[in-house]
Amino acid sequence: MADIDRPEISEECGVFGVVAPGEDVARIAFFGLFSLQHRGQESAGIAVTDGQKIRMHRDMGLVTQIFQEETLSSLTGHTAIGHTRYSTTGSSILRNVQPMRCDSKFGEVALAHNGDLINSATLREEMTAQGVEFETTNDSEVIIQIIANSKAATIEDAIKEAMTEIRGAYAVLVMTKDKLIAFRDPYGIRPLSIGKLNGNHYVLASETCALNTIGAQFIREVEPGELVIVDENGLREMQAVPVCGHALCVFEYVYFARPDSQMYGKTIHEARRRMGHELAKEHPARGAHIVFPIPNTGTPAAIGFAEGSRIPYAEGVIKNHYIHRTFIAPDQRMREMGVRMKLTPLKETLAGRRVVMVDDSIVRGTTIGKQIKMIREAGAVEVHVRISSPPYRHPCFYGIDTANQNELIAANMNVEEIRRHIGADSLGYLSLAGLVRAIGVKKDKLCCACLDGKYPIDISKEAKLSKFVFEEKEPVASANE
Ligand code: AMP
Repeated sequence: MADIDRPEISEECGVFGVVAPGEDVARIAFFGLFSLQHRGQESAGIAVTDGQKIRMHRDMGLVTQIFQEETLSSLTGHTAIGHTRYSTTGSSILRNVQPMRCDSKFGEVALAHNGDLINSATLREEMTAQGVEFETTNDSEVIIQIIANSKAATIEDAIKEAMTEIRGAYAVLVMTKDKLIAFRDPYGIRPLSIGKLNGNHYVLASETCALNTIGAQFIREVEPGELVIVDENGLREMQAVPVCGHALCVFEYVYFARPDSQMYGKTIHEARRRMGHELAKEHPARGAHIVFPIPNTGTPAAIGFAEGSRIPYAEGVIKNHYIHRTFIAPDQRMREMGVRMKLTPLKETLAGRRVVMVDDSIVRGTTIGKQIKMIREAGAVEVHVRISSPPYRHPCFYGIDTANQNELIAANMNVEEIRRHIGADSLGYLSLAGLVRAIGVKKDKLCCACLDGKYPIDISKEAKLSKFVFEEKEPVASANE
C-alpha cells in the first residue's frame, strides 16, 4: 500500500500514446492516463499534434484534476502522447512535468519517459560542456537533448544514437508533428505494450489495462532495444540496439502494475494470487482465525493465502481510496495521522482473533509497524505478517526511487530483527524461488536486483546518488501552454 507516510520512495511513471486520425486523441490519451494513474500521482500531461504544431497541457495533480472538458477539447490533432509522473529523478515541480517538448532540426519533438537512466549525470555534464542548455532537473531531458542535438539525418537515427548513449531503464514515447516513435531499453526493464484501436489505429501504453479501458486490442509488447514507428503508413519496427537480455522489473508483478494488466502474457492478479499460494506453503500460519490483506496491493496475495491455507479470508481494514499525496501535504502531523486516515480497522473482524495480515512488500518498514499497532488496538490477539515478496535489500537504480540502501529495513536487519521492530507475532517473506514460480516466467527474464542484488546493468560506475542529482537550488515552476 503506497502511503502518504512515505513521501520519498516512489512508484514510477506511466506513458501512453495514440495515433488515430479522425478520433479525439486527447480524450483517448486522457482515458489511457486515467487507467495508468496508479503509476504516478504527482503530475500528468498530454501533448497533441495536428501535423502543424504540438500543443500540450501539463500540471501537478491527478489526471482528473488537470484535464477538464475545455482543455481536452482544445487539444485537437491526430496523435497524442501522455505521461503520469511520480518523480524518480528531479523533484516534484511543474518544470519537471512530462511530456517535455523542444525544437530540433526534425521540427518540434515531445517526449514521455518511464524509467531511470544511470549515466544521465555524465551525459548531462558532457553536453553542458558542449553548450547544451538544460531546462529541467529531470533525467529524461538528456534523451530529448541528444535527439535534438543529433547530426543524424532522420529522427529514427537520432533516437538510435540516443539509445547507444543512454544506459539504464527506459520506455519512451517520442512524438514529432507527424509520427509517434516508441522505444524500450535493451533489457526491457520498464514495460511497454502495443495495441490496436478500431482495427486501424495504434496505441502504446505502459500497461495493458490502459488498452482495455479504451477498447484497444493488445498486439504485443515492444521488445527490448526495439524502435516502433507509427505514422499515417501504419506501424514499422526495427531493432535499434542489440537485445542485452530480458529483465522486466519483478516489482511490476509484486506491487506496481494494476491487477488487470498482463506482462509476458501473465495477468498480474493471478500472479499475485499464486504468490499467496506459495506463501501459504512456505509460511503457514496454523491456528489463525482469519487472513486479511492490506488493500489494495496485498489483496490478491491474501486471497491466495486463504485458498492455500484454508484459513477464512476477511476484510480486516477498510481503505479510504480518496487519499492522494497531491492534496495532502505530507507534513509531520499528517504523516502521523497517515495510516489512520488511509486504513480503518474493522473491530468486528479483528477483536479476539489470531490474524494473518498480508501485504506485498516491506520497503523502509515505516508503515507496517503502525498498521500492526492499529490492528492490535482493534483487539487482534496475535498478528502474523506475511509478505508476498522476499526482503527488499538492494536499492533500485532503474526507476523506483529507493537509491539509498540505508533506508531499506531488510538491508540493515534480519527477518527476526524486523519482526521485533514492527511488533509482529511472526513474519514470513516469500522466497525468491517461490515468487518466480508464482509469476510463471523464467527468472532470467526478470530484473530481481532489489531482491538479490544482481543488477542487469552495471551500476558501479555511474549510478546516481540522489534523485536531486541535477538540482543546485529549488527551481522555479514554469507554465503550461
Ligand atoms: P514501507 O515499508 O513503509 O516503506 O512501505 C511499504 C508499503 O509501501 C507496502 O505496503 C507496499 O505496498 C508499498 N510500496 C512498495 N514499494 C513502493 C514504492 N516503490 N513506492 C510506494 N509504495 C511502495
